[in-house]
Amino acid sequence: MKHLIYADNAATTQMDVDAFEAMKPYLLQEYGNASQPYSFARQPKKAIQEAREIIASCIGALPEEIYFTSGGTESDNWAIKGTAFRNYDHRATITSAFEHHAVLHACESIERLGCPVAYMWPDSTGLVSPEILARYITDETMLVSVMYANNEIGSIQPIKDLCEVAHAHGALFHTDAVQAVGHVAIDVNDLGVDMLSASAHKFNGAKGVGFLYVRKGTKLLPFTDGGAQEHGLRAGTENVAGIVSMAVALKKNIDDLENNQRHLFELETMLFQALNESGISYVRNGGDYTLPGVISLSFDGKDGEAILHRMDLMGISISTGSACDSKNTEISHVLKAIRIPENLAKGTIRISLGKYNSFEEVIEIASALKRILL
Ligand code: PLP
Repeated sequence: MKHLIYADNAATTQMDVDAFEAMKPYLLQEYGNASQPYSFARQPKKAIQEAREIIASCIGALPEEIYFTSGGTESDNWAIKGTAFRNYDHRATITSAFEHHAVLHACESIERLGCPVAYMWPDSTGLVSPEILARYITDETMLVSVMYANNEIGSIQPIKDLCEVAHAHGALFHTDAVQAVGHVAIDVNDLGVDMLSASAHKFNGAKGVGFLYVRKGTKLLPFTDGGAQEHGLRAGTENVAGIVSMAVALKKNIDDLENNQRHLFELETMLFQALNESGISYVRNGGDYTLPGVISLSFDGKDGEAILHRMDLMGISISTGSACDSKNTEISHVLKAIRIPENLAKGTIRISLGKYNSFEEVIEIASALKRILL
């Protein structure tokens, strides 16, 4: 059988085997409802608490500051809507024009209900600088939400500096760190963020589980109404198996962070060496400071969709942008936000490498691009 190459790790990742094994007992034997008072619930309850402690320690948080959710989309929605509706005084939210749709559509939703939102434009490298934020923020700003790293072009934002600007104006700061958690070192106290979203399937955990970090004392409306789970703020029976797998996957990635980053750096270096030797001309998007392994390339006058399909025929999975936009043939809102010319935007692909990719696969990706583009 043909060896398939998966190079769309920003869309989702292969599950870590240990994370998968850790789930099994909570589906087959220890399946009790963690909210019940009897002994059958003891182990699931303990496992959730241990997972909370592990996850908190991976990002420098307190266990009680971690709220389990169904993933990045829910965490983002909760941070945006939970802040706006908790402080229903029409103070503004500021976000950036190239956020994931989980943030953008949540912002459009609060706007429809009368809460003002301003959308900052990043610069052409995909950076939202503190100077840009300073032009938008006022003392009437309630929340600033800027993603840690962009999912299409990989650009990493100066979150600590942005946070300082927000706090100087009395605003809260949320970051959608879905692409960053498990891939770069994160300490919520060093960054100073009030809320941070993460999703397990982006760091080799299960799909449909994530968390929202909420700094102690931050005022947030519950996201779901119902039972008293998650300190009464996120009702619903806990996804024990998913939560356990998320903790195992995150801890493994953090313990191995330097090795993983080095491996991805070497893969990237090899890919660019092969592309440069092949004579293909390309523009790399996202500036100088990007997520390890996330590579956005534009080929002048080419068709990104056509490249994706031809790569697929060769057994290689890449993307033209955000996974959620795969049916949308328009230029993505991210590429529009960084204002790259249309001839380049249409010829843009995203290769996102993960810790399981090999050097041989990267060479195959480069030679497939050569066959398609030259
Ligand atoms: N935020 C970013 C930056 C993402 O890349 C994604 C997924 O693509 C999400 C949020 C949504 O996360 P989930 O798939 O866990 O809902």
